[in-house]
Amino acid sequence: MTPHETIRSQFRIIDTQLRALKKLGLHTVRDLLYHLPARYENIAESKSVGTLQKGDEVVVYGTFSALKTRKTWNSRRAIAEGWLSDGTGRIKVMWFNQPYLAKMLTEGVVMKVSGTIGGSEGKLFISNPETELASGIPLSQSDSLFEGDGNTDTEQTLFALYPESKGITSKWFRHAIARALSAGVHEQLTDPVPEELRTRYHLPRLATALVWLHQPKKLADSESARKRFAFEEIFAIQLAKYKERAEVAQADAVSIALDTKNNNSFVDRFPFALTSGQRHAIESIFADFTSPGAMSRLLEGDVGSGKTAVAATAAFAVVESSPNGNVHGRLQVAYMAPTEILAKQHFESFIEYFHYMPVSIGLLTGSGCLKYPSKVSPTKSTSVSRAQLLKWVGEGDIHILIGTHALIQKSVSFKNLGLIIIDEQHRFGTRQRHELRKKDDLMPHLLSMTATPIPRTLALTLYGDLDLTVLDEMPAGRKPVKSFIIKESERSQAYAHITEELNAGRQAYVICPRIDEPDPEKLMAVMAASAIETAKKLQREIFPDRHVGLVHSKLTPKEKDAVMEAFAAHEIYILVATSVVEVGVNVPNATIIMIEGAERFGLAQLHQLRGRVIRSEHQAYCYFVNAGKSQKSKDRLKALTTAKSGFELAEFDLKQRGAGELYGRSQSGLSDIGMDALKNLKLVEAAREEAKKLVEQDATLAHYPHLHTLIAEKLEKLHFE
Ligand code: ADP
Ligand code: MG
Repeated sequence: MTPHETIRSQFRIIDTQLRALKKLGLHTVRDLLYHLPARYENIAESKSVGTLQKGDEVVVYGTFSALKTRKTWNSRRAIAEGWLSDGTGRIKVMWFNQPYLAKMLTEGVVMKVSGTIGGSEGKLFISNPETELASGIPLSQSDSLFEGDGNTDTEQTLFALYPESKGITSKWFRHAIARALSAGVHEQLTDPVPEELRTRYHLPRLATALVWLHQPKKLADSESARKRFAFEEIFAIQLAKYKERAEVAQADAVSIALDTKNNNSFVDRFPFALTSGQRHAIESIFADFTSPGAMSRLLEGDVGSGKTAVAATAAFAVVESSPNGNVHGRLQVAYMAPTEILAKQHFESFIEYFHYMPVSIGLLTGSGCLKYPSKVSPTKSTSVSRAQLLKWVGEGDIHILIGTHALIQKSVSFKNLGLIIIDEQHRFGTRQRHELRKKDDLMPHLLSMTATPIPRTLALTLYGDLDLTVLDEMPAGRKPVKSFIIKESERSQAYAHITEELNAGRQAYVICPRIDEPDPEKLMAVMAASAIETAKKLQREIFPDRHVGLVHSKLTPKEKDAVMEAFAAHEIYILVATSVVEVGVNVPNATIIMIEGAERFGLAQLHQLRGRVIRSEHQAYCYFVNAGKSQKSKDRLKALTTAKSGFELAEFDLKQRGAGELYGRSQSGLSDIGMDALKNLKLVEAAREEAKKLVEQDATLAHYPHLHTLIAEKLEKLHFE
C-alpha cells in the first residue's frame, strides 16, 4: 500500500461508504491517515454490565435493544425503556417523562451510558442516564479492534472517534487506518516540517504523530501529536502569508499624491468631528500611500466606530490623484461589500460625501446597476445596464465603483485602479481578495475593514499579511446599549419595552436564529424561534396595528432591498430578521433589538447584532432571550453585559467554546486542530516567527519543496467568508 493509491483500490468498500468518504473529502490512503480523530473514548474507565451493583455510579458501553415507550399504570407518566447489553450481561434502561429519547436511539447502536444503578438484586436498572453515541467501540476482547491483523494488543483502552458521515463509522476508520499503519504507509510520507523546527519545539515526526493520533497508548501522546499538526497547519498558513507579503512588497504600487489641504476640507464636511481613532487610522493609511510598496491594511473597529468615514476619506485621496501620465484623469476606487443591502447603503453614503465634486460613482450588484450622477438630473442616480457601467469603469469614467461579489468577476476591469476597499473582509476569501488586485500591472492599495472582533491569535493567523489598525474608540455621545438577559417566559417584558420605544417614534429589530421551522429530526434541540413564524405571530398577536417586516437570506436580493428600504423609510416599525442584518446595516432610528435564542449565537456575533442599535444619540436597548438552561449558557451571555468591547467578548468565547464556535468551523477552512491551536498564543507566535525567518532566508522556499505542497493545500482550504 502506498500513500497516493485510492482508498477504493485498497479497501473493499460499498457505494454508500464511497459516497461518505467523498463527502468527507477523503480519496487517497494519505487522506485517510490525515483524517484525524475528533476525540477518544477511554474504556478503561467503564464497567462491564455483568459486574454492576445497586448504587454504583457507572459508565457502561453496550448496544440497545427492545426499545419501546409506554405509560405507567398508576400515574400515566410516559416511560421509554430498553435493554443495554455488552456480552457480559444486560441491564434495563429507563427514561421517565422523556419518551422521545427512545425514538432518538436505534436498535443495535453502540452507546456510552452514564448513570446510577437502581432497582434490586436481579432487577437492576439505570434510570434517566446520560447517553452518547460511541460507534464501534469493541464491547469485549473477542471483538478486538485488531482482529485479523495479528495484533493482539489487549492493553488498548483509548479508541479514536472520527468525524463521521452517513454511511461510514468510526469503527470502519479505525480498522482501515490500522491496516494502513501496519502496512507502513505512514513511514512513506515525507515530513513537511523541517527537522530543526521539530527538535526546537519538541514535536514528534510525522510518522510517529500519526500513530499517536490514531492509536494512542496514552492521552498525552495524542495531545503531543495534535500539537504537532496544529503547528504544521499554522506554520503553513503563516508561510503563505509571508510569501504573499514579500510579493506585495516587491511589486510597484500605484502612486498617490496627497493634497493635505484638500483632504482636510473633505474631512471637515462630515457632519461630525472625527474621533482620534479615525484620525489615527487615516494618518496610517496616508503614510502607507506615500511609502514604497502597496498598502495592505486591516481596519478593525467595533460596530458603529465609524469605519465608513475612514474609507471615504481614503477613497477621496485616491480619486483626487491622477494616474501616471494623465493629469486630468482620476485614480479609481473599488469598494466591495458583503451584501447588496450594504453595497446600496454605501453607495448612498458616498453620494452624500462626494456630491459637491465631479466624481462619478457606480453601483454594481447581481440585481442591477446604478450610476451617479444621472445625466438628466445631476443630483440623482440613475439605473444603467451592466454592460454600460462596465464600459465606463473600463474607460476610467466611473471613479468609485461600489458593489458586492459581482465586483470580482472577470468581466470587470478597471482602467486606473488605485485602491480596493473591502468591507467586512472576513466575508471574503483570501483568493477573492487577490483576484481584484491582479487586474492591473501596478499594484493597487488594499484597505480591509471588519467589525468582527478577532482575537489576536486568529488575526495573526488569518491576516498575517495585513498591517493592523484598531479603531478602539466610539464617536462621542454614544451611549452603551442597555442590555438585558431574559428567559423565554419573560418575553412580554421585552414586548412592552418595544411598544414604549415605538410610541416614542423609534423602531425595533427582532432577530431569530433560523428561517424555517426547526428540523423535525432535531427533537432534542431547543425549539428555535423561526423568523417567519415570529413575524406572523408578532403581527397578529402582539403588534396588530404596527407594520412588521421580515427579512431573511432566502429572499431574493430585490425583496431584501425592498424590505430594508421600507424599514429605513420608517414604513416598517418592527423588522424581524435572521442574522442577515448582522453586517453593517445602518438604520439610526432603530433603538431596540430583541434576540431570540441568544444561546445559539457566538458572543461576538451577538455583539455585532446588538451593534445594529448604537447608531444614534438615543439610548438603545437590547434583550437577549436565553432559551438555554445550563449555568454555562447563562454565564456566557452574562459576559455581554460586563465586557467592555467586542474584543473582550471574542477572547472570552474563544476560551470557552473555541474558535469554531466563534465563526463557524466550516467558515474558516481551518481544521479542528488548527482552530484549537488558536487558543494557544505561544504556539501561533512561534509558528509565525519561524515562518517569517524562513521566508526571509529563502523567499521562494526553494530549499523546502514539501512546504510548497503543504501551503498549496492549506490555501486551497482557507477561506474566511
Ligand atoms: P461602522 O464602523 O460600523 O461601519 P459606520 O461607519 O457605519 O460604522 O458609522 C456608524 C454611524 O456613526 C454612521 O451613522 C456615521 O455617520 C456615524 N459616525 C461616524 N463617525 C462619527 C463621528 N466621529 N462622530 C459621530 N458620528 C459618527
Ligand atoms: Mg460598516
